[in-house]
Amino acid sequence: MKAIQQAISSSGKIVITTHKGPDGDAIGSSLAMYHYLKAKGKAVCVIVPDAFPDFLKWMEGADQIIHFDTQKESALAELLNADLIFSLDYNGLSRIGELGVYVGEKDAVKVVIDHHQDPQDFADHYYVDTDSCSTSQLVYELIESFDDLKGITKNMAECLYCGIMTDTGSFRFPSTTAKTHRIIAHFLELGVQASNIHQSVYDTYSEDRLRLLGFALTEKMHVYHDQGIAYISLSGEELKRFNFKKGDTEGLVNYPLSINGIKMAVLLTERDEEVRLSFRSKDDVYVNRLANEHFNGGGHIYAAGGSLFMMLPEAVAYLKKILELPS
Ligand code: 5GP
Ligand code: MN
Repeated sequence: MKAIQQAISSSGKIVITTHKGPDGDAIGSSLAMYHYLKAKGKAVCVIVPDAFPDFLKWMEGADQIIHFDTQKESALAELLNADLIFSLDYNGLSRIGELGVYVGEKDAVKVVIDHHQDPQDFADHYYVDTDSCSTSQLVYELIESFDDLKGITKNMAECLYCGIMTDTGSFRFPSTTAKTHRIIAHFLELGVQASNIHQSVYDTYSEDRLRLLGFALTEKMHVYHDQGIAYISLSGEELKRFNFKKGDTEGLVNYPLSINGIKMAVLLTERDEEVRLSFRSKDDVYVNRLANEHFNGGGHIYAAGGSLFMMLPEAVAYLKKILELPS
């Protein structure tokens, strides 16, 4: 923590990066760090590999974020001048796609703040706690270790609230601790309107998105009660039928877990050249190793993801074989 504090004070130009398909914790922790460093007088910018959902765009500073896939020149110009690079909410350069090549090659001090298992060796300093509910909580605790909690503004608190809320399933996953609630209490004292944040993230569905959820649960969910497993698969054509937009399937994978006795849920979605998989589990079922060993991915014990480079029907067949599901 001291080394990170030192790195911040001796740098002038800072770039913050986060993972592909940024979620609430990725954007929340990155923007909070952005506001914190800006207030310290640093030149700072956030670069994301690709787009994030509309329901995260209310956060202060979201419109300043540079998207590597569509604004590559600006992103590279920022990276060129950076003397310090933060990697937030990811544990390896492959998680930021092509941006990772440039971050890897760049001669700058690199700092990882993350809560995923097995961080890879690409940075100078690591502030990692795999038991932590979120990178947003780690950002708070890092600032706390600097003895600088007064530096947390309402804007920052809103971003961190969103990160903690989304990564804890609204404070219900086992990673939610007394400390998490104390941090949240601090945010409320700073004037954060929690109900507004819940509404901005969870009550802003398009009609198409809600109908896609209904379709997925009614027509596309396969439940294996004996194995305690359920999966949902959605083809590119089906997604298109519901005018799929980034973020529309966010949270969908959690629904099968609410069936009594189901301990693992899988969502397969067909993208351009690949099939994306999301895994969720509970109790004694761990999905990170499964994602890592068989699905080119990884993640946390109860929430992981991966990709298969095949057509959807083959991906479903492969999944069923790996999980030993009857045909
Ligand atoms: P999601 O299912 O929400 O896309 O991802 C769940 C968790 O797994 C997230 O914490 C995410 O960081 C991780 N994850 C998702 N996809 C991948 C992947 O392709 N590789 C790795 N290593 N982790 C992933
Ligand atoms: Mn996270």
